Amino acid sequence: MDFAYTPKVEALRERLLGFMNEHIYPGDERYHAEQEANRAAGNPWQPIPIIEELKPLARKAGLWNLFLPHSDRVPEGLTNLEYAPLCEIMGTMAWSSEVFNCSAPDTGNMETLDRYASEEIKRAWLDPLLDGKIRSAFAMTEPAVASSDATNIESRIERDGDHYVLNGRKWWTSGAADPRCQIFIFMGKSNPDGPRHSQQSMVVVPAGTPGLKVLRPLNVLGYDDAPHGHCEVLFENVRVPVGNMLLGEGRGFEIAQGRLGPGRIHHCMRALGVAERALELMCRRLSSRVAFGKPISSQSVWHERIADLRCRIDMARLLTLKAAYMMDTVGNKVAKAEIAMIKVVAPAVACDAVDMAMQAHGGGGMCDDFPLAKMYANARTLRLVDGPDEVHRSAIAKLELGRYATRS
Ligand SMILES: Cc1cc2nc3c(=O)[nH]c(=O)nc-3n(C[C@H](O)[C@H](O)[C@H](O)COP(=O)(O)OP(=O)(O)OC[C@H]3O[C@@H](n4cnc5c(N)ncnc54)[C@H](O)[C@@H]3O)c2cc1C
Repeated sequence: MDFAYTPKVEALRERLLGFMNEHIYPGDERYHAEQEANRAAGNPWQPIPIIEELKPLARKAGLWNLFLPHSDRVPEGLTNLEYAPLCEIMGTMAWSSEVFNCSAPDTGNMETLDRYASEEIKRAWLDPLLDGKIRSAFAMTEPAVASSDATNIESRIERDGDHYVLNGRKWWTSGAADPRCQIFIFMGKSNPDGPRHSQQSMVVVPAGTPGLKVLRPLNVLGYDDAPHGHCEVLFENVRVPVGNMLLGEGRGFEIAQGRLGPGRIHHCMRALGVAERALELMCRRLSSRVAFGKPISSQSVWHERIADLRCRIDMARLLTLKAAYMMDTVGNKVAKAEIAMIKVVAPAVACDAVDMAMQAHGGGGMCDDFPLAKMYANARTLRLVDGPDEVHRSAIAKLELGRYATRS
């Protein structure tokens, strides 16, 4: 395995870092001021101007849709291995991914549509998503059942002539509160009596379809994540044409596996960016404060912590690159162990890095004068989104045990 950055990736990294230094890092204050202004005006659920302003610049700089591999529609899309170091850089500032049209859940949804939708659906929804004109949501998790086991899902998809009728209550549907969210990918059971992994289907539902109601936004550790939001959404007798079915009835699980692989590794790549930023903030703070007569950074306990984080971040990066390499070379399905491993490791490293950085900042680390509290809220969700740690550990253990099953 060769993880050295190719000249193409080096050039893109340089361009991306230049863009971050020119527009994103100096724009952070403006981003938060505009977010606050929306809240003060009584409507946090509207786009933030700086993002819309920067999107055309990013596109012009050739830093657009880099996440999508092997698509006729996006010839500039990179392999997972090529994209990893770029996604990590975007991860250093949570709001920046959208500027490059590389943010969740749109990336996973675009990849799903690109792979599994009809040409008609692609023209209607994928093309405007790739243009950054609209946003999307993925509605799988349900409040009533343990959704980390997707076979539990109870929502129904029933055929009625040339339509499907959808019923179900979802929550944690990210992005549903954004007025630009024009399309939902809905997972439900179309064949409840079929084999366990062939009961589910996925259907495309345009926002505004009668019966689709966004009920309420949910907070993440107190943050509303506006204008993106994570919402409880009701689907009540929602009718969509049969052509909105992705791939075919009973193939929802198959799509979920295909969709969640790339989504998961993108989260991990961004988590590395979070960990790097936390470590940097921590080192700078420790070096700039004096306690008990010497810089806090000179206390050996902090040397231990800094060294430990540096080792863990670099190990997590290597594992991420290996998972990306495997996805590119043997496919997402065969790379499932590596994807599960990195999904356990990278969020934990990011959480621990931010936790340590908060400790290093003392009381300051708890408030919004520093970005750490928000970074922690984001990083902590990664231990749940796209499957909780335990489920990934269980998948890794099953594969490991399976290697020895026949020998006992
Ligand atoms: C910020 C955020 C954004 C999200 N965005 C989306 C989205 O856009 N679309 C969407 O559909 N969902 C989304 N989710 C939901 C997320 O994917 C689920 O919360 C997650 O899959 C867990 O499902 P659950 O909440 O039903 O937990 P449950 O299934 O009830 O599980 C609860 C806990 O049980 C434990 N557990 C479960 N299985 C096992 C096991 N095999 N062994 C040991 N312990 C186990 C774990 O600790 C787990 O956390 C989001 C969640 C958050 C927090």
